[in-house]
Amino acid sequence: MQNMGKMYKKIKIYDILLSVIVMNCLFCNICNGKIESSTIYEDDIVRVIMDINPTSNGHVLIIPKNHYDDFCTIDKVTIVHIHKIAKLIKKNIYDALNPDGLILTNNYGIAQVVKHYHLHLVPVYKDKQEILDINTVYNKIIKSII
Ligand SMILES: [Zn+2]
Repeated sequence: MQNMGKMYKKIKIYDILLSVIVMNCLFCNICNGKIESSTIYEDDIVRVIMDINPTSNGHVLIIPKNHYDDFCTIDKVTIVHIHKIAKLIKKNIYDALNPDGLILTNNYGIAQVVKHYHLHLVPVYKDKQEILDINTVYNKIIKSII
């Protein structure tokens, strides 16, 4: 019985710590809608947004709605879903922007700025492209979805 009590306390502390992380996490707040984003796709598991500091035109992020620090802590079901959505969004990016390639990347450790797992989809173009306003690119991608 005493062990059960200790176990209960550990779970409770874990839940409290997780709620503090979620409250202070930029991507948790974007996923739960407390912070606005240019969302191009959303379901129960992920939100796909335009990167506010794009490397190229059409640079988007696929973010799981549940908080996972990085690729080492994310569960298999979620990571598989993220890659299914990457295929779907790839089609929209190609229809809207006609890139010549795509880089899928995930950062870790000091390379990871926001400590909430996210997958970058970065279009690559043969010819050098001027970086357009995010809203312009967002509208092109949204038109390809509708
Ligand atoms: Zn988070």
